[in-house]
Amino acid sequence: MDNLLQLKDKNIVVMGVANDRSIAWGIAKALISVGANVIFTYRKERSLMKLEKQLAKYENLQPLVVQCDVNSDESIQQAFKEIGEKVGTIHGIVHSVAFAHAEDLKNRFIETSRDGYAFAQDTSAYSLIAVANAARPYMTDGGSIITMTYLGAERVLEGYNVMGVAKAALEASVRYLASDVGGDGIRVNAISAGAIKTLAAKGVPSFNKILNKMEETAPLKRNVTPEEVANMSLVMLSPLSSGVTGEVIYVDGGYHIMGV
Ligand code: NAP
Repeated sequence: MDNLLQLKDKNIVVMGVANDRSIAWGIAKALISVGANVIFTYRKERSLMKLEKQLAKYENLQPLVVQCDVNSDESIQQAFKEIGEKVGTIHGIVHSVAFAHAEDLKNRFIETSRDGYAFAQDTSAYSLIAVANAARPYMTDGGSIITMTYLGAERVLEGYNVMGVAKAALEASVRYLASDVGGDGIRVNAISAGAIKTLAAKGVPSFNKILNKMEETAPLKRNVTPEEVANMSLVMLSPLSSGVTGEVIYVDGGYHIMGV
């Protein structure tokens, strides 16, 4: 499988490991298992500590770990400059970052504040554009950028509110970015994951209800695992998906095809 994926020794930046339940950590583990050179970015010191704890389980693995707050252009520029200077070519990016204020998920959607709306967009959608732009000078061999989205981008899901609007903007950004950088051999795609119990998911008030509903309704009659999302991520980062860009790929047990 490693030969098929051709990810061995490729420099892949993984953004968004908060702990061992993070979707980004599942993807990083899969990338490490096929011999990719994973570079991590983190925001909070607490996330760095959790990441270091997981990395300590690997012998002889000392990846580059760089701080990057996607709400700051300066931080993004600095992080990718450091990564580019240290590794040379960047072959892939996993953008697995999102955030909205808790009150904007708990309150009625109509009560969304101007600041809360802008903050969710900035962190969860605009950040993909800023990251792609900062990485572009180092993506000299082309490459693949993936981001994580959710069905709430296109359907009203209880409690997803302002994050659904941010994910809609993220998916549109994927298409515009794909069109813009396709000529440089860079592909941009989103993976629409089914519900997975993570720190971020805890912020969605109706999360447990969503898990149950997916299990009941999805064609596969179960929720998906982080490993399944990671496996599709490997495919989307690798030349196996070389003809695919600007797409939203669903890893949700088929839930999105069903009526309500
Ligand atoms: P998670 O473990 O909580 O990861 C979210 C990550 O976003 C954290 O590492 C967090 O870092 C990072 N982040 C937030 N604000 C940031 C900022 N300003 N700068 C840099 N990093 C920032 O949750 P997750 O579920 O794996 O989420 C990853 C992605 O998957 C998100 O885009 C989410 O919307 C998407 N997704 C999740 C599900 C699900 O059911 N879990 C389903 C579909 C899509 P810090 O903690 O250090 O701030």
